[in-house]
Amino acid sequence: MPTSSTFPPFADPTEIESSIVQVGAPVLRSRAHDVSPEQMQTPSFRAFVERMIETMRKAPGVGLAAPQIGVPWRLIVLEDRPDLLVNLNDLERRERERVPFSVRVFVNPVLTPVGEERTMFFEGCLSVKGFVGMVERAREVEVTGVDERGQVQTWRAAGWPARILQHEADHIDGTLYVDRMKTRSFSTVDQAKERFGGKPIEEIRRALGI
Ligand code: ZN
Repeated sequence: MPTSSTFPPFADPTEIESSIVQVGAPVLRSRAHDVSPEQMQTPSFRAFVERMIETMRKAPGVGLAAPQIGVPWRLIVLEDRPDLLVNLNDLERRERERVPFSVRVFVNPVLTPVGEERTMFFEGCLSVKGFVGMVERAREVEVTGVDERGQVQTWRAAGWPARILQHEADHIDGTLYVDRMKTRSFSTVDQAKERFGGKPIEEIRRALGI
């Protein structure tokens, strides 16, 4: 067994998964480990964070958790870019409160919901490729953790960034969106786009009976 000082068990960051781990892999179902301050100071940690950001952008996705590339660390990266929003109309952007934000890295994040308000939208996952489902989540959350340099940071986010944070924080606890989704809404990405693309969320919920 690797000790905590040698964990994760790779010497060279290029040894990590080049493709994103898919559902069924045990690493997506276990609670990930805290990253220690000592681990954060190593060059391989910094290379690992870069690798995660690169993998998220290439996918492309708006968030990625370390277990998704095979490493059980409590580490998530997030970013939403204007080019990822081009297929959403104004209504969809407004309802989702989806606004671009630059890359954020959270090590050992702890999330707390803010307020009682909850929202429900289709959500997908790079580890459940090709599918989406409707998931109800807190509209607003506060997250604390440290950034890639070890600085303590807090972020209070609402709307889509809050949803991404909850989705990624679930990953490091071994939870996937399919555990939380309204099962009757489960759909291929293509079907969901064809049936519901551009439509108001209330209409989608009515059509799905949820
Ligand atoms: Zn995911």
